[in-house]
Amino acid sequence: MATFDRSILAYVPSLEAAHALVTNNPKFDSFLSEFQTVAAQHQKDDIYRVTLVHRHTEVALDHRIMDFKQTLQTFPLHDSAQDIHGYPIRPKSLVLHEGQWKPYEYEFGASDDSSDSTFLARVQEMIKHHGLEYVGLRRYSPTDPEELEITASGGISVKVPWNSLLETKFSYQQLVWAFPSGQPKNYRCSCRDTGSSTNPNHNHINQP
Ligand SMILES: [Zn+2]
Repeated sequence: MATFDRSILAYVPSLEAAHALVTNNPKFDSFLSEFQTVAAQHQKDDIYRVTLVHRHTEVALDHRIMDFKQTLQTFPLHDSAQDIHGYPIRPKSLVLHEGQWKPYEYEFGASDDSSDSTFLARVQEMIKHHGLEYVGLRRYSPTDPEELEITASGGISVKVPWNSLLETKFSYQQLVWAFPSGQPKNYRCSCRDTGSSTNPNHNHINQP
């Protein structure tokens, strides 16, 4: 995987914009069923899930977004850094841009790029074919509970285990579609404060 290219953060849209793209695309459902088949064929259905690429917060120039299990927050890291205190990090969330997969969120863990490249190329073709610009991939574990991701303000997102009682308390969008061993799991997102006031749908860092 390429080193972190922070210019990708300018390409990551708001949740609203990403969600609109999917709901307005009649091919999304066929993409999902094709993804389920392809992920199972490549034995990646327990590693990658489909995600709506969306922005959480402004990211300072010397920071990156890290996923620390129950939270997502910016963390000071050089663009070239591949570890935190000696512990390896790897891409958590990937978006396609200009014909390449680019990481925009990270997590702890060793990278296993080489075994993923065929699968990533196949999903790239499918996304292009279906015209799903802001659909990306996110790593996960099948043991992750179904969650609701909440970003209020201040740049920290928390992920709370999904409970149907939450349904009445939050407005949310479905964010992630996972098919571990053929059993669909859904992850949801209620992220506010994800756009900038000057450009709510396509946020550019350092924009006046
Ligand atoms: Zn979110």
